[in-house]
Amino acid sequence: MAKTLLITGSSRGIGRATALLAAERGYNLCINYHQNEAAAKATLEQVLSFGVKAITVQADVANEVEVIRLFETVDAELGKLTALVNNAGTLVPAKRVDEMTAERLSKLFQTNVVSSFLCAREAIKRMSTRYGGKGGAIVNVSSAASRTGSAGVYVDYAASKGAIDTFTYGLAQEVAQEGIRVNAVRPGFIDTEIHQLSEMPGRAAQVAQTVPMRRNGTAEEVATAILWLLSDEASYTSGAWLDVAGAR
Ligand code: NAP
Repeated sequence: MAKTLLITGSSRGIGRATALLAAERGYNLCINYHQNEAAAKATLEQVLSFGVKAITVQADVANEVEVIRLFETVDAELGKLTALVNNAGTLVPAKRVDEMTAERLSKLFQTNVVSSFLCAREAIKRMSTRYGGKGGAIVNVSSAASRTGSAGVYVDYAASKGAIDTFTYGLAQEVAQEGIRVNAVRPGFIDTEIHQLSEMPGRAAQVAQTVPMRRNGTAEEVATAILWLLSDEASYTSGAWLDVAGAR
């Protein structure tokens, strides 16, 4: 059976590295992005060099109508979905909880949490044996922040990833008898552009000093963990959180 994977937010960073590794391993791919069309096209070009089928689809995964359009486009252009990586996410400027507005919190939770529920819902309708599907795998991209709490920096972001951990465990049990495995990766500090959003220059070097391995991770190191969780090698692994955080 052809392997067809949708990775949300795969124009850049961890999503992009995952798309490239998945293409190398023979997955047909949907590269979703929000605003950076040039980055999505560049990723598509590299993915196509592996000889797989692939498309780019612009859609804000925080928006329900756009999520539905995204999955319908995959149906029409790539066929039966077999795997989903809920990777799209955002970070926020560093603030204490006593400085956070309701607007910031709603936007963050919509983008980091509601989006994953909506995409999982659409994936389940296509993969679950309950709906006539043949099963599949979902990987959610959480964060080590769900364990550390990110005090004084972005407790809201950390809490959004805590929600993803709980979502992963609960959903894994809900669909365990329907042929779908659901897992999460929890990356530590990974060298990508997302950190510009925290408006804390120098944070990368600062965090690296707190990591037992004394370095930050790469997007490729997270991608290999995601690909393993998606693969048949992980056939008895579901409801798991895989830390990719240099022993932090
Ligand atoms: P990144 O380099 O900033 O890339 C973010 C990707 O998500 C881009 O492709 C972006 O699209 C897309 N995106 C953002 N908001 C979106 C939306 N509303 N709808 C659709 N796509 C959207 O980020 P990253 O570091 O790779 O992070 C990826 C995931 O890993 C996130 O969930 C993040 O929380 C998590 N994570 C990252 C780290 C880290 O240290 N980097 C650590 C732990 C967890 P455009 O290119 O169009 O903007």
